[in-house]
Amino acid sequence: MQLYMPTKIYSETNCVVTHGKELRALGTKAMIVTGKTSAVKTGALADVLQALGETPYVIFDQIEENPSIETALQAQKIAVAEKTDFFIGIGGGSAMDAAKAISLLAKNFPKGEEILYDPAVLPYYPVVCVPTTCGTGSEATPYAILTIHKKQTKKSISHRIYPEIALLDDKYLHSLPRNILVNTCVDALAHLLESYLNTNSNELNRVYSREGLMLWRTFRDRLLSGQITDRDYQDMLHASMLAGLAITHTGTSLPHGLSYAVTYTLGIPHGRAVGIFLGGYVDNGTQDATDAVNLLGFETTGEFRSYMKALLGEADLPADLLRTAAKMIMADPGKLKNCPFPVTEEQLIGMLN
Ligand code: NAP
Ligand code: FE
Repeated sequence: MQLYMPTKIYSETNCVVTHGKELRALGTKAMIVTGKTSAVKTGALADVLQALGETPYVIFDQIEENPSIETALQAQKIAVAEKTDFFIGIGGGSAMDAAKAISLLAKNFPKGEEILYDPAVLPYYPVVCVPTTCGTGSEATPYAILTIHKKQTKKSISHRIYPEIALLDDKYLHSLPRNILVNTCVDALAHLLESYLNTNSNELNRVYSREGLMLWRTFRDRLLSGQITDRDYQDMLHASMLAGLAITHTGTSLPHGLSYAVTYTLGIPHGRAVGIFLGGYVDNGTQDATDAVNLLGFETTGEFRSYMKALLGEADLPADLLRTAAKMIMADPGKLKNCPFPVTEEQLIGMLN
């Protein structure tokens, strides 16, 4: 068993401004990587600018949901021209993942796209992550998932890029519309469960999933009813970060594997695309699965499956897309290896909610 987590995690009100000195120590010029509006709307960008003080910076605010290789390459050019030597991702998983990929591309210029999926170990510039959603845990994982248009899917780059610093302030979550809040909480839940029910899970790394599942239990019913409290936002952000730590040590499993084609083809947001397979993945007849849903306060995996359906509604996927996604998984041993029980193509299809 082993455990490695080099990211310095601060989870406090106003932590971005409080830890400005550490932020400024990371380099001489920052690239701030964001989506189009959320970094401004949440106040996170204003906090980062205050924390940077006199340190020069450039803002790249063109990150789309499920960021593409093309967008990362566009940012690489600007980073190189501006000589930026540290990267601050502000936003959901899309902006944080993009910041990681851009740091790698900038450091290895003039190399480009060809290095993203090259297993060689390469250097990268320091990355700071400031999450404004409560789903991916990207601030506490070394993963960066990019859309590969040429292959019509999404895939984590080959490099493990641990953020230097993660700055978690739940005040940034308050502007989340209900659908994004639900989708991202479901992504975190999927990380917790896919890590717990995983061939790579062990007693050491299950600590993260156990803590995260017990936290998720506390806001479970209010997520369904929509009566979110201030305390819930804090717990949602913590559960998401714990879930990131969990998958850092185990990887994800079949719901994530199945989701990528669904997101690419139908544009269904990541958390929802994963969540529609989660009840079915967990309803697998193993004692571990029952233990996991007990931590969430459910008696049986069937009860958990009903909760997921109530939270997300009918999945309603085209049958041909579902079959294609299942076939892609069955044809790829790499995608099956994390699943701790055997599955057939029909069972994969049957995981849909
Ligand atoms: P996202 O794609 O980063 O953001 C979704 C939407 O939410 C965007 O429109 C964004 O606006 C908006 N938004 C973000 N924060 C907001 C706030 N506080 N208030 C209002 N709107 C806000 O969503 P995500 O689910 O967090 O990230 C999904 C991506 O992360 C996918 O590409 C997924 O594959 C990846 N992922 C990564 C990991 C990992 O370990 N690295 C794990 C799981 C998933 P803006 O565009 O304006 O920012
Ligand atoms: Fe995810």
